[in-house]
Amino acid sequence: MKTFDFEEEKLKREIQKLDAKKVLLQLPEGLKPEATRLAKKLQKLGILPIISADPCYGACDLALHAAESLGADLLIHFGHTKMTRHERIPTVYIEARANSNIEKSVKKALSLMGNYKKVGLVTTVQHVHMLEGAKEILLKANKAVAIGDSGQLPYAGQVTGCNYANAKAVAKEVEAFLFLGGGRFHAIGVELAARKPTIIADPYQKTAFTIEKETKKIINQRWAAIQEAKESKNFGILIGLKTGQKQMEKALNLKEKLTNAGKNAFLLALREITPEALLQFPALEAYINTACPRVGLDETSKFHRPVLTPEELTVVLGEKSWEQLCSGGWFEN
Ligand code: SF4
Repeated sequence: MKTFDFEEEKLKREIQKLDAKKVLLQLPEGLKPEATRLAKKLQKLGILPIISADPCYGACDLALHAAESLGADLLIHFGHTKMTRHERIPTVYIEARANSNIEKSVKKALSLMGNYKKVGLVTTVQHVHMLEGAKEILLKANKAVAIGDSGQLPYAGQVTGCNYANAKAVAKEVEAFLFLGGGRFHAIGVELAARKPTIIADPYQKTAFTIEKETKKIINQRWAAIQEAKESKNFGILIGLKTGQKQMEKALNLKEKLTNAGKNAFLLALREITPEALLQFPALEAYINTACPRVGLDETSKFHRPVLTPEELTVVLGEKSWEQLCSGGWFEN
């Protein structure tokens, strides 16, 4: 059995419906190894597939510009649900649901739940169809279960790297969260956003673990970054050039805010926010990032200068206390 469902029949139907002749395939890093197999299948249908080899971390980064410049009639985006409103060329989303079994990992997670009686369930789109199964296991173990539905994402209980609204929607009524899925990235996001202990049930490794230490380390680093930014005079405001990351108005508001506070603020536009890119501006002492909130947040030590979220800037400027930031969580959504 294949690990992910690439909905190949749906794909064919969509291509036929649009009579597409040239398609651009865009897959996130973990799914890219499947690209050539999918391209081969499409080729057999008489279609010209082109694989986007650029990195892709989310639906915020639709390869629209690449599709346009290549003259593709269709963009097929795998692994995420729709995020941006403006698709300049037809786009099909293939969620790539995982076929793995969650039973073993959820049962292992139960042993890490101690006395928690009320648990929130969250996951990425790859495992949303497994939430009900996980819920049943928890109910059998006498846990009360909450699956949040904020209406911001297509599925109840779904989270993305920067949207934890479904976790926040039930955070007050649960003592902890159980995250279904691989890796630490999304679970750390849940813990930072909803401020509740989060246990991972990893169906790929068939294991369960907590991420308390990692989250604590990030929070400590954020505190230090904010302190450093408080001493700074010259700020760079980062504007993301990826389709779903561009927030021009917000950047302008932040510039005004910083200027009113007696600071110098410069607007910088870029696609990839990397330590190397920021090293080119030695005059800038701190950055406010209006693009992907995970850049800087998870990788504090990689950057030579603090890279803060707009929310963290409110602490720098004294509009909010550190305690308020901590209790409110780190993500806008
Ligand atoms: S903005 Fe960042 S966290 Fe959000 S979807 Fe894009 S890459 Fe993921």
